[in-house]
Amino acid sequence: MNTGQTTGTRPRVVIVGSGFGGLFAAQRLRKAPVDVTLIAKTTHHLFQPLLYQVATGILSQGEIAPATREILRSQDNARVLLGEVTDIDLAARTVTSTVLGRTAVHSYDELIVAAGAGQSYFGNDHFADFAPGMKSIDDALELRGRIFGAFELAELATDPAEIDRLLTFVVVGAGPTGVEMAGQIAELARRTLHRDFNRIDPSSARVILLDAAPQVLPPFGELGKKAHKKLNEIGIEVQLGAMVTDVDAEGLLVKDADGPERRIRAATKIWAAGVQASPLGKQLGEQSGAAVDRAGRISVQSDLTLPGHPEVHVVGDMISLDRLPGVAQVAIQGGRFAADAIMARATGRPTAPAFHYHDKGSMATISRFSAVAQIGKLKVSGFLAWMMWLVVHLAYIVGFRSRVTTVLHWMVSFLGRGRSERVATQQQVYGRLALEELGPEFEVSKTAGGRLSADAGVDVTGRQSA
Ligand SMILES: Cc1cc2nc3c(=O)[nH]c(=O)nc-3n(C[C@H](O)[C@H](O)[C@H](O)COP(=O)(O)OP(=O)(O)OC[C@H]3O[C@@H](n4cnc5c(N)ncnc54)[C@H](O)[C@@H]3O)c2cc1C
Repeated sequence: MNTGQTTGTRPRVVIVGSGFGGLFAAQRLRKAPVDVTLIAKTTHHLFQPLLYQVATGILSQGEIAPATREILRSQDNARVLLGEVTDIDLAARTVTSTVLGRTAVHSYDELIVAAGAGQSYFGNDHFADFAPGMKSIDDALELRGRIFGAFELAELATDPAEIDRLLTFVVVGAGPTGVEMAGQIAELARRTLHRDFNRIDPSSARVILLDAAPQVLPPFGELGKKAHKKLNEIGIEVQLGAMVTDVDAEGLLVKDADGPERRIRAATKIWAAGVQASPLGKQLGEQSGAAVDRAGRISVQSDLTLPGHPEVHVVGDMISLDRLPGVAQVAIQGGRFAADAIMARATGRPTAPAFHYHDKGSMATISRFSAVAQIGKLKVSGFLAWMMWLVVHLAYIVGFRSRVTTVLHWMVSFLGRGRSERVATQQQVYGRLALEELGPEFEVSKTAGGRLSADAGVDVTGRQSA
Protein backbone atom coordinates (compact mmCIF):
# COMPACT_ATOMS: atom_id res chain seq x y z
CA MET A 1 0.00 0.00 0.00
CA ASN A 2 1.43 3.38 -0.91
CA THR A 3 0.08 6.08 1.33
CA GLY A 4 2.12 8.93 -0.09
CA GLN A 5 -0.22 11.88 -0.19
CA THR A 6 -0.17 14.04 -3.26
CA THR A 7 -1.93 17.30 -3.58
CA GLY A 8 -0.30 18.10 -6.89
CA THR A 9 1.92 21.00 -5.99
CA ARG A 10 2.49 20.88 -2.23
CA PRO A 11 5.71 19.18 -1.11
CA ARG A 12 5.18 16.00 0.91
CA VAL A 13 7.13 16.07 4.17
CA VAL A 14 7.56 12.81 6.06
CA ILE A 15 8.76 13.01 9.67
CA VAL A 16 10.00 9.88 11.46
CA GLY A 17 9.53 10.08 15.24
CA SER A 18 7.20 11.93 17.61
CA GLY A 19 9.87 12.80 20.19
CA PHE A 20 11.35 16.24 20.72
CA GLY A 21 12.87 16.51 17.23
CA GLY A 22 9.92 15.13 15.29
CA LEU A 23 7.09 16.82 17.15
CA PHE A 24 8.68 20.28 17.27
CA ALA A 25 9.52 20.04 13.56
CA ALA A 26 5.92 19.12 12.74
CA GLN A 27 4.57 22.01 14.81
CA ARG A 28 6.99 24.43 13.18
CA LEU A 29 5.52 23.48 9.78
CA ARG A 30 2.00 24.45 10.91
CA LYS A 31 1.74 27.35 8.46
CA ALA A 32 3.97 25.96 5.73
CA PRO A 33 2.47 25.14 2.32
CA VAL A 34 3.36 21.45 2.71
CA ASP A 35 1.63 18.17 3.63
CA VAL A 36 3.17 16.62 6.72
CA THR A 37 3.00 12.91 7.59
CA LEU A 38 4.44 12.09 11.01
CA ILE A 39 5.16 8.38 11.55
CA ALA A 40 6.17 7.01 14.94
CA LYS A 41 6.22 3.64 16.59
CA THR A 42 4.31 4.95 19.60
CA THR A 43 1.09 6.91 19.58
CA HIS A 44 2.45 9.38 22.14
CA HIS A 45 5.06 12.09 22.45
CA LEU A 46 7.29 11.06 25.34
CA PHE A 47 8.79 13.54 27.78
CA GLN A 48 11.76 11.32 28.67
CA PRO A 49 13.27 13.58 31.35
CA LEU A 50 10.41 12.69 33.72
CA LEU A 51 10.34 8.92 33.09
CA TYR A 52 12.01 8.33 36.44
CA GLN A 53 9.03 9.98 38.17
CA VAL A 54 6.68 7.48 36.51
CA ALA A 55 8.98 4.63 37.57
CA THR A 56 8.92 5.81 41.20
CA GLY A 57 5.18 6.47 41.42
CA ILE A 58 5.17 10.28 41.41
CA LEU A 59 3.54 10.85 38.00
CA SER A 60 1.22 8.88 35.78
CA GLN A 61 2.28 7.92 32.30
CA GLY A 62 -0.43 10.11 30.74
CA GLU A 63 1.17 13.23 32.20
CA ILE A 64 4.44 12.70 30.38
CA ALA A 65 3.11 10.97 27.26
CA PRO A 66 0.23 12.84 25.63
CA ALA A 67 -1.23 11.45 22.40
CA THR A 68 0.58 12.91 19.40
CA ARG A 69 -2.70 12.84 17.47
CA GLU A 70 -4.29 15.08 20.10
CA ILE A 71 -1.36 17.52 20.13
CA LEU A 72 -1.53 17.94 16.34
CA ARG A 73 -5.29 17.66 15.88
CA SER A 74 -5.79 21.31 14.98
CA GLN A 75 -2.89 21.33 12.53
CA ASP A 76 -4.70 20.86 9.23
CA ASN A 77 -1.61 20.06 7.16
CA ALA A 78 -0.43 17.27 9.48
CA ARG A 79 -1.35 13.61 9.56
CA VAL A 80 -0.21 11.19 12.29
CA LEU A 81 0.45 7.51 11.56
CA LEU A 82 1.43 4.65 13.84
CA GLY A 83 4.21 2.47 12.50
CA GLU A 84 7.79 1.40 12.96
CA VAL A 85 9.92 2.62 10.10
CA THR A 86 11.97 -0.31 8.90
CA ASP A 87 13.36 1.02 5.62
CA ILE A 88 14.31 4.35 4.15
CA ASP A 89 15.17 4.34 0.44
CA LEU A 90 17.04 7.52 -0.38
CA ALA A 91 17.11 6.84 -4.14
CA ALA A 92 13.38 6.10 -4.42
CA ARG A 93 12.52 8.72 -1.77
CA THR A 94 10.31 6.37 0.18
CA VAL A 95 9.88 5.37 3.81
CA THR A 96 8.46 1.95 4.70
CA SER A 97 6.67 1.46 7.98
CA THR A 98 5.01 -1.51 9.57
CA VAL A 99 2.64 -2.22 12.41
CA LEU A 100 1.27 -5.69 13.22
CA GLY A 101 1.92 -6.95 9.71
CA ARG A 102 0.45 -3.91 7.98
CA THR A 103 3.13 -2.41 5.80
CA ALA A 104 2.90 1.02 4.20
CA VAL A 105 5.21 2.86 1.82
CA HIS A 106 5.25 6.66 2.04
CA SER A 107 6.75 8.85 -0.67
CA TYR A 108 8.41 12.10 0.32
CA ASP A 109 9.83 15.25 -1.16
CA GLU A 110 11.43 16.23 2.16
CA LEU A 111 12.29 13.86 5.00
CA ILE A 112 13.08 14.57 8.65
CA VAL A 113 14.46 11.59 10.56
CA ALA A 114 14.20 12.04 14.34
CA ALA A 115 14.13 8.45 15.60
CA GLY A 116 16.25 9.15 18.71
CA ALA A 117 18.27 6.59 20.61
CA GLY A 118 17.70 3.49 22.68
CA GLN A 119 19.56 2.09 25.66
CA SER A 120 23.04 0.72 25.10
CA TYR A 121 24.23 -2.25 27.13
CA PHE A 122 27.62 -2.01 25.42
CA GLY A 123 27.20 -5.29 23.56
CA ASN A 124 25.61 -7.10 26.51
CA ASP A 125 21.94 -6.90 25.54
CA HIS A 126 21.12 -9.85 27.81
CA PHE A 127 21.63 -7.45 30.76
CA ALA A 128 18.30 -5.92 29.69
CA ASP A 129 16.46 -8.98 31.02
CA PHE A 130 17.53 -8.17 34.57
CA ALA A 131 18.28 -4.45 34.43
CA PRO A 132 15.65 -2.56 32.42
CA GLY A 133 16.68 0.77 30.98
CA MET A 134 14.83 4.05 31.16
CA LYS A 135 13.78 4.82 27.63
CA SER A 136 10.08 4.14 27.29
CA ILE A 137 6.80 4.08 29.18
CA ASP A 138 7.08 0.27 29.12
CA ASP A 139 10.45 0.54 30.87
CA ALA A 140 9.12 2.96 33.49
CA LEU A 141 6.05 0.86 34.32
CA GLU A 142 8.05 -2.35 34.45
CA LEU A 143 10.53 -0.67 36.78
CA ARG A 144 7.73 0.68 38.93
CA GLY A 145 6.47 -2.90 39.33
CA ARG A 146 9.96 -4.17 40.15
CA ILE A 147 10.70 -1.41 42.68
CA PHE A 148 7.42 -1.55 44.60
CA GLY A 149 7.35 -5.35 44.16
CA ALA A 150 10.76 -5.72 45.82
CA PHE A 151 9.42 -4.16 49.05
CA GLU A 152 6.36 -6.47 48.93
CA LEU A 153 8.54 -9.57 48.51
CA ALA A 154 10.86 -8.43 51.28
CA GLU A 155 7.87 -8.22 53.63
CA LEU A 156 7.13 -11.88 52.85
CA ALA A 157 10.72 -13.15 53.06
CA THR A 158 12.09 -14.74 56.23
CA ASP A 159 15.75 -15.26 55.34
CA PRO A 160 17.67 -12.10 56.38
CA ALA A 161 20.06 -12.46 53.40
CA GLU A 162 17.12 -12.60 51.02
CA ILE A 163 15.54 -9.55 52.66
CA ASP A 164 18.82 -7.69 52.17
CA ARG A 165 18.92 -8.72 48.49
CA LEU A 166 15.34 -7.58 47.96
CA LEU A 167 16.00 -4.27 49.69
CA THR A 168 19.11 -3.52 47.63
CA PHE A 169 18.58 -1.29 44.60
CA VAL A 170 21.41 -0.70 42.15
CA VAL A 171 21.34 2.07 39.59
CA VAL A 172 24.04 1.77 36.91
CA GLY A 173 25.15 5.09 35.44
CA ALA A 174 25.81 8.26 37.43
CA GLY A 175 24.63 10.72 34.77
CA PRO A 176 21.50 12.86 35.32
CA THR A 177 19.07 9.93 34.82
CA GLY A 178 20.92 7.66 37.26
CA VAL A 179 21.29 10.39 39.88
CA GLU A 180 17.59 11.32 39.66
CA MET A 181 16.50 7.69 39.80
CA ALA A 182 18.70 6.81 42.78
CA GLY A 183 17.56 9.94 44.62
CA GLN A 184 13.89 9.09 44.13
CA ILE A 185 14.28 5.44 45.20
CA ALA A 186 15.99 6.64 48.39
CA GLU A 187 13.17 9.13 49.06
CA LEU A 188 10.55 6.50 48.33
CA ALA A 189 12.12 4.12 50.83
CA ARG A 190 12.83 6.67 53.56
CA ARG A 191 9.92 9.13 53.26
CA THR A 192 7.00 7.34 51.60
CA LEU A 193 7.15 3.68 52.52
CA HIS A 194 8.76 3.81 55.94
CA ARG A 195 5.47 3.34 57.82
CA ASP A 196 3.68 1.09 55.33
CA PHE A 197 5.17 -2.29 56.28
CA ASN A 198 5.10 -4.35 59.48
CA ARG A 199 8.05 -6.70 59.31
CA ILE A 200 10.58 -4.86 57.22
CA ASP A 201 11.99 -1.39 57.61
CA PRO A 202 11.91 0.15 54.10
CA SER A 203 14.13 3.01 55.25
CA SER A 204 16.95 0.49 55.70
CA ALA A 205 16.95 -0.12 51.93
CA ARG A 206 20.39 0.10 50.32
CA VAL A 207 20.53 2.30 47.25
CA ILE A 208 23.75 2.00 45.26
CA LEU A 209 24.66 4.30 42.38
CA LEU A 210 27.60 3.00 40.42
CA ASP A 211 29.56 4.09 37.39
CA ALA A 212 32.79 3.17 35.66
CA ALA A 213 33.61 6.89 35.40
CA PRO A 214 35.51 8.56 38.24
CA GLN A 215 32.89 11.27 38.85
CA VAL A 216 29.17 11.79 39.38
CA LEU A 217 27.56 13.93 36.64
CA PRO A 218 30.84 14.34 34.69
CA PRO A 219 29.69 17.20 32.42
CA PHE A 220 28.74 19.28 35.47
CA GLY A 221 32.34 19.58 36.78
CA GLU A 222 32.41 21.04 40.32
CA LEU A 223 28.62 20.71 40.60
CA GLY A 224 29.09 16.95 40.20
CA LYS A 225 31.09 16.92 43.45
CA LYS A 226 28.29 18.79 45.22
CA ALA A 227 25.77 16.30 43.88
CA HIS A 228 27.98 13.44 45.11
CA LYS A 229 28.04 14.94 48.63
CA LYS A 230 24.27 15.39 48.65
CA LEU A 231 23.71 11.81 47.44
CA ASN A 232 25.81 10.58 50.37
CA GLU A 233 23.84 12.76 52.78
CA ILE A 234 20.57 11.11 51.73
CA GLY A 235 22.11 7.69 52.25
CA ILE A 236 23.01 6.68 48.70
CA GLU A 237 26.21 4.65 48.31
CA VAL A 238 28.11 6.04 45.35
CA GLN A 239 30.61 3.59 43.85
CA LEU A 240 32.81 5.10 41.14
CA GLY A 241 35.41 3.46 38.91
CA ALA A 242 33.18 0.38 39.08
CA MET A 243 32.51 -1.45 35.82
CA VAL A 244 29.59 -3.87 35.57
CA THR A 245 30.79 -7.13 34.00
CA ASP A 246 27.66 -9.24 34.38
CA VAL A 247 24.05 -8.97 35.50
CA ASP A 248 21.68 -11.78 36.47
CA ALA A 249 18.55 -12.25 38.52
CA GLU A 250 20.56 -12.47 41.76
CA GLY A 251 22.61 -9.33 41.31
CA LEU A 252 25.64 -7.90 39.51
CA LEU A 253 29.31 -8.61 39.05
CA VAL A 254 31.40 -5.48 39.32
CA LYS A 255 35.06 -4.89 38.58
CA ASP A 256 36.66 -2.01 40.43
CA ALA A 257 39.33 0.03 38.67
CA ASP A 258 41.97 -1.09 41.17
CA GLY A 259 40.55 -4.34 42.49
CA PRO A 260 39.20 -7.79 41.72
CA GLU A 261 35.67 -8.60 40.62
CA ARG A 262 33.05 -8.50 43.36
CA ARG A 263 29.39 -9.39 43.56
CA ILE A 264 26.53 -7.18 44.68
CA ARG A 265 23.39 -9.10 45.57
CA ALA A 266 20.44 -6.99 44.45
CA ALA A 267 16.97 -7.86 43.22
CA THR A 268 16.36 -4.55 41.47
CA LYS A 269 18.86 -3.30 38.91
CA ILE A 270 18.28 -0.26 36.73
CA TRP A 271 20.37 0.56 33.68
CA ALA A 272 20.94 4.26 33.10
CA ALA A 273 24.27 4.02 31.28
CA GLY A 274 24.88 4.57 27.60
CA VAL A 275 22.74 5.14 24.54
CA GLN A 276 22.68 3.66 21.06
CA ALA A 277 21.19 5.70 18.23
CA SER A 278 18.34 4.31 16.15
CA PRO A 279 19.45 1.64 13.64
CA LEU A 280 17.99 3.90 10.94
CA GLY A 281 21.20 5.95 11.27
CA LYS A 282 23.27 3.02 9.99
CA GLN A 283 20.86 2.53 7.10
CA LEU A 284 21.13 6.19 6.12
CA GLY A 285 24.92 6.06 6.46
CA GLU A 286 25.20 3.08 4.11
CA GLN A 287 23.14 4.80 1.44
CA SER A 288 24.61 8.29 1.67
CA GLY A 289 28.21 7.54 2.58
CA ALA A 290 27.92 9.56 5.83
CA ALA A 291 30.01 8.15 8.68
CA VAL A 292 28.29 6.42 11.59
CA ASP A 293 30.08 6.26 14.96
CA ARG A 294 30.15 3.42 17.51
CA ALA A 295 27.07 4.79 19.24
CA GLY A 296 25.21 4.59 15.92
CA ARG A 297 25.11 8.38 15.42
CA ILE A 298 25.30 9.60 11.85
CA SER A 299 27.57 12.46 10.80
CA VAL A 300 25.39 15.13 9.28
CA GLN A 301 26.44 18.23 7.36
CA SER A 302 26.37 21.60 9.10
CA ASP A 303 22.80 22.16 7.85
CA LEU A 304 21.68 18.79 9.35
CA THR A 305 21.26 17.16 5.93
CA LEU A 306 23.01 14.13 4.45
CA PRO A 307 25.75 14.47 1.80
CA GLY A 308 24.16 14.56 -1.66
CA HIS A 309 20.66 14.65 -0.15
CA PRO A 310 19.59 18.19 0.72
CA GLU A 311 16.04 16.83 1.10
CA VAL A 312 17.00 14.49 3.98
CA HIS A 313 17.34 16.10 7.41
CA VAL A 314 18.46 14.15 10.50
CA VAL A 315 18.04 15.69 13.96
CA GLY A 316 18.29 14.99 17.67
CA ASP A 317 19.93 12.04 19.41
CA MET A 318 20.71 10.32 16.10
CA ILE A 319 23.28 12.85 14.92
CA SER A 320 26.94 13.42 15.39
CA LEU A 321 27.85 17.07 14.81
CA ASP A 322 30.32 19.31 16.65
CA ARG A 323 30.10 17.08 19.76
CA LEU A 324 26.56 18.25 20.43
CA PRO A 325 25.09 16.49 23.48
CA GLY A 326 22.10 14.14 23.33
CA VAL A 327 19.68 16.49 25.05
CA ALA A 328 16.17 17.69 24.37
CA GLN A 329 17.21 21.20 23.27
CA VAL A 330 19.51 19.86 20.54
CA ALA A 331 16.58 17.86 19.17
CA ILE A 332 14.03 20.68 19.50
CA GLN A 333 16.27 23.31 17.90
CA GLY A 334 17.40 20.84 15.20
CA GLY A 335 13.81 19.90 14.40
CA ARG A 336 12.84 23.55 14.07
CA PHE A 337 15.91 24.30 11.95
CA ALA A 338 15.05 21.48 9.53
CA ALA A 339 11.42 22.68 9.37
CA ASP A 340 12.58 26.23 8.62
CA ALA A 341 14.76 24.95 5.76
CA ILE A 342 11.80 23.04 4.32
CA MET A 343 9.52 26.04 4.69
CA ALA A 344 12.13 28.30 3.01
CA ARG A 345 12.46 25.94 0.06
CA ALA A 346 8.69 25.60 -0.27
CA THR A 347 8.30 29.38 -0.42
CA GLY A 348 11.30 30.07 -2.64
CA ARG A 349 13.44 31.70 0.06
CA PRO A 350 17.12 30.88 0.72
CA THR A 351 17.87 28.32 3.46
CA ALA A 352 20.21 29.00 6.39
CA PRO A 353 23.66 27.49 5.68
CA ALA A 354 24.38 26.05 9.13
CA PHE A 355 22.67 24.96 12.34
CA HIS A 356 23.86 26.82 15.43
CA TYR A 357 22.94 25.28 18.76
CA HIS A 358 21.99 27.68 21.53
CA ASP A 359 22.96 26.01 24.81
CA LYS A 360 20.30 26.91 27.37
CA GLY A 361 22.11 25.03 30.16
CA SER A 362 21.66 21.73 31.90
CA MET A 363 20.22 20.60 35.21
CA ALA A 364 19.66 17.49 37.29
CA THR A 365 17.67 16.92 40.47
CA ILE A 366 19.16 14.92 43.29
CA SER A 367 16.25 14.73 45.69
CA ARG A 368 13.36 16.83 46.95
CA PHE A 369 14.48 20.49 47.20
CA SER A 370 17.93 19.72 45.81
CA ALA A 371 19.29 20.01 42.27
CA VAL A 372 22.25 21.31 40.30
CA ALA A 373 21.97 23.67 37.35
CA GLN A 374 24.56 25.08 34.96
CA ILE A 375 23.47 27.92 32.72
CA GLY A 376 26.38 29.50 30.85
CA LYS A 377 28.85 30.56 33.54
CA LEU A 378 26.16 30.44 36.24
CA LYS A 379 26.38 27.40 38.50
CA VAL A 380 23.61 26.91 41.02
CA SER A 381 22.91 24.11 43.48
CA GLY A 382 20.40 23.34 46.22
CA PHE A 383 16.86 24.69 46.55
CA LEU A 384 17.18 27.49 43.98
CA ALA A 385 18.40 25.02 41.33
CA TRP A 386 15.53 22.69 42.23
CA MET A 387 12.98 25.50 41.74
CA MET A 388 14.56 26.33 38.37
CA TRP A 389 14.36 22.65 37.42
CA LEU A 390 10.68 22.57 38.40
CA VAL A 391 9.76 25.62 36.33
CA VAL A 392 11.72 24.53 33.22
CA HIS A 393 10.28 21.01 33.22
CA LEU A 394 6.76 22.22 33.81
CA ALA A 395 7.09 24.59 30.84
CA TYR A 396 7.98 21.71 28.53
CA ILE A 397 5.21 19.35 29.63
CA VAL A 398 2.70 19.39 26.79
CA GLY A 399 -0.86 20.49 27.58
CA PHE A 400 -2.49 22.58 30.29
CA ARG A 401 -4.30 19.59 31.84
CA SER A 402 -1.07 17.62 32.28
CA ARG A 403 0.66 20.65 33.79
CA VAL A 404 -2.06 21.05 36.41
CA THR A 405 -2.08 17.38 37.44
CA THR A 406 1.72 17.27 37.44
CA VAL A 407 1.84 20.18 39.89
CA LEU A 408 -0.72 18.42 42.11
CA HIS A 409 1.28 15.19 42.04
CA TRP A 410 4.49 17.07 42.83
CA MET A 411 2.77 18.64 45.84
CA VAL A 412 1.67 15.18 47.02
CA SER A 413 5.23 13.86 46.78
CA PHE A 414 7.43 16.85 47.58
CA LEU A 415 5.37 18.79 50.14
CA GLY A 416 3.72 15.63 51.45
CA ARG A 417 5.21 12.15 51.57
CA GLY A 418 2.87 10.31 49.20
CA ARG A 419 3.12 8.83 45.76
CA SER A 420 -0.04 9.13 43.69
CA GLU A 421 0.82 6.35 41.25
CA ARG A 422 1.72 3.17 43.08
CA VAL A 423 -0.22 0.80 40.86
CA ALA A 424 1.81 -1.83 39.05
CA THR A 425 0.08 -4.74 37.40
CA GLN A 426 1.47 -8.18 36.69
CA GLN A 427 1.05 -7.47 33.00
CA GLN A 428 3.27 -4.43 33.26
CA VAL A 429 6.04 -6.42 34.92
CA TYR A 430 5.81 -9.58 32.82
CA GLY A 431 4.11 -8.26 29.68
CA ARG A 432 7.22 -7.94 27.56
CA LEU A 433 8.21 -11.52 28.23
CA ALA A 434 4.74 -12.73 27.27
CA LEU A 435 4.78 -10.66 24.09
CA GLU A 436 8.14 -12.04 23.04
CA GLU A 437 6.87 -15.58 23.45
CA LEU A 438 4.07 -14.85 20.97
CA GLY A 439 6.70 -14.67 18.23
CA PRO A 440 8.73 -12.14 16.25
CA GLU A 441 5.60 -10.35 15.08
CA PHE A 442 4.98 -9.29 18.67
CA GLU A 443 8.61 -8.99 19.74
CA VAL A 444 9.22 -5.75 21.52
CA SER A 445 12.58 -4.12 21.80
CA LYS A 446 14.22 -4.48 25.19
CA THR A 447 16.47 -1.56 24.48
CA ALA A 448 13.79 0.74 23.02
CA GLY A 449 16.10 1.51 20.14
CA GLY A 450 14.81 -0.88 17.49
CA ARG A 451 14.32 -4.58 17.14
CA LEU A 452 17.13 -6.65 18.58
CA SER A 453 19.18 -8.80 16.29
CA ALA A 454 18.39 -12.51 16.45
CA ASP A 455 21.54 -13.34 18.36
CA ALA A 456 21.30 -10.53 20.86
CA GLY A 457 19.34 -11.98 23.71
CA VAL A 458 16.43 -14.07 22.60
CA ASP A 459 16.78 -16.28 25.68
CA VAL A 460 13.58 -14.82 27.03
CA THR A 461 13.15 -17.63 29.53
CA GLY A 462 16.00 -16.12 31.52
CA ARG A 463 14.11 -12.96 32.36
CA GLN A 464 13.16 -12.67 35.98
CA SER A 465 11.86 -9.84 38.00
CA ALA A 466 12.44 -9.10 41.67
C1 LIG B 1 15.52 8.95 31.14
C2 LIG B 1 15.96 10.14 30.33
C3 LIG B 1 16.11 11.37 30.93
C4 LIG B 1 16.49 12.47 30.17
N1 LIG B 1 16.61 13.69 30.80
C5 LIG B 1 16.91 14.77 30.06
C6 LIG B 1 16.95 16.06 30.67
O1 LIG B 1 16.73 16.20 31.88
N2 LIG B 1 17.22 17.13 29.86
C7 LIG B 1 17.46 16.99 28.53
O2 LIG B 1 17.67 17.99 27.84
N3 LIG B 1 17.44 15.80 27.95
C8 LIG B 1 17.17 14.68 28.67
N4 LIG B 1 17.14 13.45 28.07
C9 LIG B 1 17.50 13.34 26.64
C10 LIG B 1 16.34 13.75 25.75
O3 LIG B 1 15.15 13.13 26.16
C11 LIG B 1 16.71 13.37 24.32
O4 LIG B 1 17.88 14.05 23.96
C12 LIG B 1 15.59 13.72 23.35
O5 LIG B 1 14.44 13.00 23.65
C13 LIG B 1 16.03 13.44 21.92
O6 LIG B 1 14.97 13.75 21.05
P1 LIG B 1 14.82 12.96 19.68
O7 LIG B 1 13.66 13.56 18.98
O8 LIG B 1 16.11 12.85 19.00
O9 LIG B 1 14.46 11.47 20.12
P2 LIG B 1 13.27 10.94 21.02
O10 LIG B 1 12.70 12.01 21.86
O11 LIG B 1 13.82 9.72 21.68
O12 LIG B 1 12.17 10.51 19.96
C14 LIG B 1 12.36 9.46 19.07
C15 LIG B 1 11.04 9.16 18.41
O13 LIG B 1 11.23 8.28 17.33
C16 LIG B 1 10.34 7.20 17.42
N5 LIG B 1 11.00 6.09 16.75
C17 LIG B 1 12.18 5.51 17.04
N6 LIG B 1 12.48 4.58 16.13
C18 LIG B 1 11.48 4.58 15.23
C19 LIG B 1 11.20 3.85 14.06
N7 LIG B 1 12.04 2.94 13.59
N8 LIG B 1 10.05 4.09 13.41
C20 LIG B 1 9.17 5.02 13.85
N9 LIG B 1 9.39 5.76 14.96
C21 LIG B 1 10.54 5.54 15.63
C22 LIG B 1 10.12 7.01 18.91
O14 LIG B 1 8.94 6.29 19.17
C23 LIG B 1 10.03 8.47 19.32
O15 LIG B 1 8.75 8.98 19.04
C24 LIG B 1 16.76 12.33 28.80
C25 LIG B 1 16.62 11.09 28.20
C26 LIG B 1 16.22 9.99 28.96
C27 LIG B 1 16.06 8.65 28.30
